[in-house]
Amino acid sequence: MDKRLNKTWESCVKCGICRSVCPVFKEEKSEPYVARGHITLLSELIKGNIGFKEHEAKDYLYKCLLCTTCVEACPNNSETDTIVEIARHEVIKHHGLPLYKKIMARVLKNRQMMDFAFKNAAMFSSFMFKKNSDTSRASLETKIKTPVMEKGRLIPKLSKKSFMQKYAEYSDSKATLALFPGCLINYTYTEIGDAFVSILKKLNITFNVPKKQLCCGAPVYFAGNFEDAAYLAKKNLDLFENLDIEFIAVMEPTCASMIKNDYVKLFMYLEDKEYEKKARDIAEKIIDPVKYLYDYTNIAESINNTNLKTTYHDPCHLKRAQNIKEEPRFFIKKASNFSEMKEADRCCGNGGTFSIDYRETSMKIASRKVRNIENSKADYLVTGCSACIMQLSEALHKHGDDHIKTIHTLELIEKALTV
Ligand code: SF4
Ligand code: SF4
Repeated sequence: MDKRLNKTWESCVKCGICRSVCPVFKEEKSEPYVARGHITLLSELIKGNIGFKEHEAKDYLYKCLLCTTCVEACPNNSETDTIVEIARHEVIKHHGLPLYKKIMARVLKNRQMMDFAFKNAAMFSSFMFKKNSDTSRASLETKIKTPVMEKGRLIPKLSKKSFMQKYAEYSDSKATLALFPGCLINYTYTEIGDAFVSILKKLNITFNVPKKQLCCGAPVYFAGNFEDAAYLAKKNLDLFENLDIEFIAVMEPTCASMIKNDYVKLFMYLEDKEYEKKARDIAEKIIDPVKYLYDYTNIAESINNTNLKTTYHDPCHLKRAQNIKEEPRFFIKKASNFSEMKEADRCCGNGGTFSIDYRETSMKIASRKVRNIENSKADYLVTGCSACIMQLSEALHKHGDDHIKTIHTLELIEKALTV
C-alpha cells in the first residue's frame, strides 16, 4: 500500500468530536460505530493485535455510511472514509464477499448483462413487486421476502428503456460536454436525466452520451472490492481519455465523487502510478450538472418562481465530497418558495448497500430527516441525488407523508424554465 495513505490513520488524536456528529453513533451509541472506533480497530488490525475472524470486527467496519460527516468535523483531518474503505478491503481479502455482492460485481462489469438484467427485471417485476402509487414517485413494493430485501420494501420503478438507450443517437456527437447518468438514473429515474437533457436543449448546448461508459464502480469499491472497482475505473478512464471533451457532467453525486476523488485513492492504494495520473487528469473534468448550469450558463435569467413550497436536503457526496451547497440553493430560491430545514446536510441513511445490510438503522436515521422535512412545512423535498430520493420517498411514505413530493434539483429547474 502507498505510504501516502498511512497518514490517514496516524492523524486521529482520539478527541471524540466525531461522536457528536456521526448518524450511526447517534443510533447505536457504541464506540466501534464511530470514526474514532473505526480508526482504532483498523490500527489494531494492521498491527495484528486483532484478527478478521471476529464477526463483530467485520460488522463494525461495514456499519458506516461513508457519509464523511466525521471527516468534515474532525479538527485533524482524519479521513475515516479512506480508513474504512481500506479496512473493508482487508476484510474481503480474508473472508471474501457475500454472494449478492459477488453477483452485483459481475453484472456491473458488463453493460450488456446489466441492460439484459434490468430489461428482464422490468418485464417480470410483477411476480415480485406490486405498484405503489401512493408515494411521491412511482415505486414498486416487494410482495415477498428475498435474501436482500424484506417484504414491503419500496424501490423505484424500472424504466422500460434506459437513459443511454434513449439517447443512443448522441453517442457519436462531437460535443465537448459528455453526460454520465450513473446506474440509478440510467435504469430507474430516467426522468431526472430527461430533465437535464431538456434544459440543455432549451439552452442550445450540445452534448454526447458515450456508449461505452460503465458503472463508476462505487458499489463495489465501498464494499472493499478494490479489484473489480479498478477494472471499472480503468475502463471509464480509458474511455474518457480518448474523448475530446471539456467536461463530464456526472448526474449522481456518488458517481461524481467516486470518479473525482476515489479513483485517485484507489490507484494510490494499488500503487498503479499510470492510472493514478489518468485519474487525476480526468478528475478536473468531472462536474455536477447543477454546478455546470450555475458556472457556465446564464440560465438564472430564465427561471421563474413556480410558487411551490420547497425545502432542500444536501446529499453527502454533493456537499461534503464536492463542496456544492450554495449553487442548488441559488436555483431553488429563484424557482420556488424555499424554507431551510434543520440539519439539511445530515445523511439520509441510505449509504448504498448500508440500507440493505443494516435496514433498521438506516430507516431510523431517515426518520430523523423526515421529522425535519415535516417541520419545514414544505410540499416538495428537493435534492440532488437519486439515492437520497429513493431513501426519503420511502421514509416519507412510511411516516404517512406521501403528500410531500420528492423532486430532483434538475427537475425543479426544468419546471421553472421559461425558454
Ligand atoms: S477522528 Fe478526528 S474527530 Fe474523531 S476522535 Fe479522531 S481526531 Fe477526533
Ligand atoms: S463516515 Fe459517517 S457513518 Fe461513518 S463514521 Fe463517519 S460520520 Fe459515522
